[in-house]
Amino acid sequence: MSEFLHSRYRALSPYVPGEQPRDRSYIKLNTNESPFPPSDGVLSVINRQAVSDLRLYSDPEALVLKEALASEYGVGRENVFVSNGSDEALYFAFMAFSEDGIAFPDITYGFYRVFADLLHIPAKLVPLREDFTIQPGEYEDIHMAVVIANPNAPTGILLSTDEVERIAASNPEHVIIVDEAYIDFAGTGASCVPLIGKYRNLLVVQTFSKSRSLAGARVGYAIGDEALIRDLETLKFSVNPYNVNRLSMAAAAAAVRDRDYYQETSSWIVENRDFTEQGLRRMGFEVLPSKANFVFARTTRMDGAGLYHGLKERGILIRHFDSERIREYNRITIGSRENMERLLAAIEALLA
Ligand SMILES: *Cc1c(COP(=O)(O)O)cnc(C)c1O
Repeated sequence: MSEFLHSRYRALSPYVPGEQPRDRSYIKLNTNESPFPPSDGVLSVINRQAVSDLRLYSDPEALVLKEALASEYGVGRENVFVSNGSDEALYFAFMAFSEDGIAFPDITYGFYRVFADLLHIPAKLVPLREDFTIQPGEYEDIHMAVVIANPNAPTGILLSTDEVERIAASNPEHVIIVDEAYIDFAGTGASCVPLIGKYRNLLVVQTFSKSRSLAGARVGYAIGDEALIRDLETLKFSVNPYNVNRLSMAAAAAAVRDRDYYQETSSWIVENRDFTEQGLRRMGFEVLPSKANFVFARTTRMDGAGLYHGLKERGILIRHFDSERIREYNRITIGSRENMERLLAAIEALLA
């Protein structure tokens, strides 16, 4: 730390992304990326002309992308905010809507705690039940903003739209942020987007990083009442009006249009998830019921850190969180069938 750093940030402990090691090539099952490439439509819009156009700024109104998303989700253009990864939309939402503090589960996406610290927002951590499910009643009449990852990370457990609706209905004076990064793996009817017309305080955040195979493009979005979206725009235009670059904007709009391809790749991942869950259970693992593109699992035959290190030595990366309630677990991204077969074989060898 330099002596120049503002005292406000001296104690900040930043988010720790999943490792991206370069010492050898790994089967990467640690950051929930897609094993599938982006669609043909995406590949075709990233061409010489698009690169040549990089001399121009990107559209600060993000019209083409907002229109594609609005028509995909059956909302108005004015209900859509686009961001540099959904992390940025979440950051602006924390900034905008957490004046009275923000509540979230004790075990969830690590960025929520970091954003609260960074912005000096009082955070209320609400413990998950013993089985790692969210207790929705704990968020009713809570008198502060709420953020819930749904499906939750790293558990993969889904909360029903009815339960989210009750939370939104009981807190009309505060914004309920639903982070749906993994919703495309959760089946039909799981998303809260259809509720945004009914609840002015509901903001749904999604991303192109997981189901749409564009993690490296950094594009996310939020869908909500027009007034909430205008607030996010005010913050964006006060920080970085060109927050999404031209290539990523074009790639994302093409990805929205290639719905069929992504429905197909997402359903393959769901199939591979079932296959992986069954394989792990056969070896005696306890696997939480996941609706995401990862599973969260533990075994009494080896401790969590041991499994992580053992697999890493065998060229397979998974994610281990060294924190109290979840130390015995590992989060395993669902990849291609071939990679999941290699994972299961490596675990079998380790346990033998
Ligand atoms: C991966 C993830 C995000 C998405 O991050 P991007 O900035 O869109 O890549 C957001 N929330 C959760 C819970 C995630 O796991």
